[in-house]
Amino acid sequence: MDWIEKIKEEIGKESVLEEIETRKIYSRDESGIENFLCDCVVFPKNEKEIIKVLRIANEFKIPVTPRGGGTGVVGGAIPLKGGILLSLSKMNKIIDIDEKNFLIEVQPGVILKKIYEEAQKLNLFYPPDPASFENCTIGGNVATNAGGPRCIKYGVTENYVLAIEGILPSSEKIYAGKKTRKWKAGYNLPKILIGSEGTLCIFTKIFLRLLPKPEYIETLIVPFEKK
Ligand SMILES: Cc1cc2nc3c(=O)[nH]c(=O)nc-3n(C[C@H](O)[C@H](O)[C@H](O)COP(=O)(O)OP(=O)(O)OC[C@H]3O[C@@H](n4cnc5c(N)ncnc54)[C@H](O)[C@@H]3O)c2cc1C
Repeated sequence: MDWIEKIKEEIGKESVLEEIETRKIYSRDESGIENFLCDCVVFPKNEKEIIKVLRIANEFKIPVTPRGGGTGVVGGAIPLKGGILLSLSKMNKIIDIDEKNFLIEVQPGVILKKIYEEAQKLNLFYPPDPASFENCTIGGNVATNAGGPRCIKYGVTENYVLAIEGILPSSEKIYAGKKTRKWKAGYNLPKILIGSEGTLCIFTKIFLRLLPKPEYIETLIVPFEKK
């Protein structure tokens, strides 16, 4: 059986798009790199579906490129070798906010702006602020270790990731880190995964720490004389 048909059979044909127009849209990001077309765009709705897709990809030796909001500027979400473009956009739920412990648990396709909004409702604050915050996803932020102007004071995405759950290319599940501030045992696996640009695993759940919302937020631009 054709591998695309097999994916459709496993996760539903409505979650697999093959039209050329869709493939073109999902085969580019903000890097300007073009002319690399995926064979199909797959929209898993949960972790189990990702595992099913990766099993088929392994069986048929098909390349898989994960994608969040497609705002990346270095071509990480471009399907250079064709195959499956795996869009995480349907896994976009905020699973839990633990107000007392300043933690938020999210699916990878959550748009960053949504995290700001939900944190704000509880007087909490998530600092990393790439200018693409209205379109980029937290999965993409972790995979690129995104930053922004606030990172000069607060640090980049890696300073807020406590733990990651993901699926390895082999389709096995991985747990990296712990959802507590006070954790130090063993290898620091989250740090290896952060900034990995989709090459090591597909993030399915991310645990982030939050801060109390600052009373005032001001942006300062300090010009220097050229000597
Ligand atoms: C106008 C504009 C302003 C920007 N400003 C900034 C800025 O201030 N700071 C900054 O750091 N960046 C900035 N960027 C770059 C970009 O927005 C960030 O890199 C962002 O983190 C990408 O997120 P995304 O969801 O769009 O990821 P995508 O572009 O979809 O993917 C980026 C990488 O992440 C991987 N990936 C995505 N989801 C997953 C997942 N669930 N599991 C594993 N891998 C995954 C992809 O394979 C790819 O390698 C900007 C981009 C634009 C267009």
